Amino acid sequence: MTAQRIIQVALPVPLRRVFDYLLPNEQHKPAIGARVEVPFGHRTLIGIVLKHASQSDTPTDRLKPITSVLDPTPAVNDELLQLLLWAADYYQCPIGEALQAALPVLLRQGAAMTPQLSTTEQCWQLTTEGLGLPDNALAKAPKQAQLLHQLRERPGTTWQALKEAGFARDALLRLQEKGLAHTCAAPPVTNSESPLNLNAEQQAALDAISFERYQTYLLDGATGSGKTEVYLQAIARLREGAEQAQTLVLVPEIGLTPQTIKRFARRFGASVAVLHSGLNDRERLNSWLRAASGEASIIIGTRSALFTPLKNPGLIIIDEEHDTSFKQQDGFRYSARDLACVRAKNLNIPLILGSATPALESLHNVNTGRFQALPLRHRANRQAAPLINVIDSSDHHQGLAAESLLAIEQHLAQGNQVLVFLNRRGFAPALKCRDCGAVVNCPNCDARLTLHHNPRHLHCHHCDFQRPILRTCESCHGHHLEPIGQGTERSEQALNQRLTSVPVWRIDRDSTRQKGALEDLFTRINSGEPCILVGTQMLAKGHHFPKVSLAIILDVDGGLLSADFRGPERLGQLITQVAGRSGRGDRRGEVILQTQNRHHPLLQRLIQQGYSAFAATLLEERQMSQMPPFLPIALVRADAPEADSPHQFLNQLRQSLTPLAEQNAVQMLGPMPALMEKKGQRYRHLLQVRGPSRHALQAFLRALAEHLDSIKTPRHLRWSIDVDPQDMS
Ligand code: ADP
Ligand code: ZN
Repeated sequence: MTAQRIIQVALPVPLRRVFDYLLPNEQHKPAIGARVEVPFGHRTLIGIVLKHASQSDTPTDRLKPITSVLDPTPAVNDELLQLLLWAADYYQCPIGEALQAALPVLLRQGAAMTPQLSTTEQCWQLTTEGLGLPDNALAKAPKQAQLLHQLRERPGTTWQALKEAGFARDALLRLQEKGLAHTCAAPPVTNSESPLNLNAEQQAALDAISFERYQTYLLDGATGSGKTEVYLQAIARLREGAEQAQTLVLVPEIGLTPQTIKRFARRFGASVAVLHSGLNDRERLNSWLRAASGEASIIIGTRSALFTPLKNPGLIIIDEEHDTSFKQQDGFRYSARDLACVRAKNLNIPLILGSATPALESLHNVNTGRFQALPLRHRANRQAAPLINVIDSSDHHQGLAAESLLAIEQHLAQGNQVLVFLNRRGFAPALKCRDCGAVVNCPNCDARLTLHHNPRHLHCHHCDFQRPILRTCESCHGHHLEPIGQGTERSEQALNQRLTSVPVWRIDRDSTRQKGALEDLFTRINSGEPCILVGTQMLAKGHHFPKVSLAIILDVDGGLLSADFRGPERLGQLITQVAGRSGRGDRRGEVILQTQNRHHPLLQRLIQQGYSAFAATLLEERQMSQMPPFLPIALVRADAPEADSPHQFLNQLRQSLTPLAEQNAVQMLGPMPALMEKKGQRYRHLLQVRGPSRHALQAFLRALAEHLDSIKTPRHLRWSIDVDPQDMS
């Protein structure tokens, strides 16, 4: 019998295995990493070739032939395939799902790997070749020649504008095919911005970076200390060494603002490509292709941009590395920061992690010598760090204390801006009956409904359930329902009533839903007129508001008393980040913290000694309680519409795996209900697994995943494994 031609294919299905298919005789062997179309049940799926084989465990007569090969060259190159195989194993995710998460949507759907015009406002410009082409070179194609001329005169014109000027799409595509024109993220800036003179600390940080080999650097720099300038100059230095070398820059989900992109584009012009969820699928694919071809030399994106193919990788940067958006919370639950270390190591290139409030994991890696710290202790504008005052808020019903109001008036009178931070949108977090004390709850979740005034309704922030505002109490039929607590809408209203002479801008997910709304707000704020900004997290990250001299943080108590072991760490990061928004201009910043726990030792440590000392204390606590980063943990979650079944399921799992756990010295805790047990009409429980070492935990989790795949799960029950969970709920 002749050997069969078989290929192993990863498919986007939630099964922890690969699938064997036959290669028809006339079919050339597809490259490893190429996409193929295959029959699967009654459907046709697109998968990735993982291996060529001559034998299969499945009897040959039951193997089906592939339908077609989509790519002449791999869609997933070897480097990325190795990374994803490693990650799939580490995060216990089926390889098909991991690959699916790493590919742009259009490639998952079978689109060709060639750039195409996007219908939206993409900009066009000439390539180096196009720029160097003599005027008569396109004499035989007058339309293309005219277009070439136009793009030489006006680089960075959008397709829309070209169309309006009478140019045909065909001519543009021809120029692109010939390698004479390409798309760019933003119009190139003709007189590009020159680098700033680095201060001594910035210079020392830059000089410490070695571009020849792998090393992770933690650029541990206070807010406003000039980290971004160090990134920019590191990129420039990399390019001095090797002109083609590419840099991948990852930023948090809400950090990728037009401001950030402009800052890179001003320095490096057209070689910047952007990848984020605000783009349409075509634009994403175009950026991805420009990175793969090496045409883009700086790629800026959010979490999943980590999986962008790079022709000449030279450097990876992760800004605000502590941000939780770098961890995917469903499906392929990877940490882009941790995988960036793996990728940089595989590529033997440097990785720079930057933050004013590094994650405890990263600080621990510095302490153990795995990462090299590059400290920036001073603000670039030479301002001292903001002055923090703590105010007891127990009598103020979480509203603004009299001292806070007074301070606001003072700062406004001096022509400055004020920021009021409150991590809760809506008008009030609860609606309560004054007669019987009943609170209006979500029917689907263990949660209260938030009262919104704008528009007026009750809203569950966990499952999106909405209903009109109640007039009577559902328990006692009384008519005295009253809002309890503060949301951003309520603070906005109170401030508007009290301070009529200045505008109050609310910045949260509700007020910025419309495209461009956030940009408009930033433009207004940066005009510098005195105003008050009231907002949530969106205000805490990365923005540069030079006129803000006072930041007020309402209600910090939630984080201090949180049941999640990461609660205090997150609170310290949030306070430090919000505080860092003030005093970025020429005046020293001031911060007011309103709390009911002003003597809490952690809060005192943070305020008196700063984030580093605070983080050191937390690390000691983590070591004592044997929590991450000292011991690796994972969660097995289960949820179902029936209250009992997740608990029973996890209990059984625990019992079946006890011998194996003992063998590996792995500890299982629980099962226990999640912090919010009922959410979206499903009951959620979890089992915590702790390993004495990564190695032991991994070995155990592999067996656990295999066991879960082999048993019959109750109908409607879903389970998942989360390695290095960031969210314990
Ligand atoms: P970070 O990213 O650490 O918050 P930025 O890079 O945004 O800080 O810098 C804060 C401000 O300081 C910016 O306005 C930046 O232009 C300015 N800045 C940074 N480095 C320097 C420098 N070496 N000299 C003068 N100004 C600087
Ligand atoms: Zn709900």
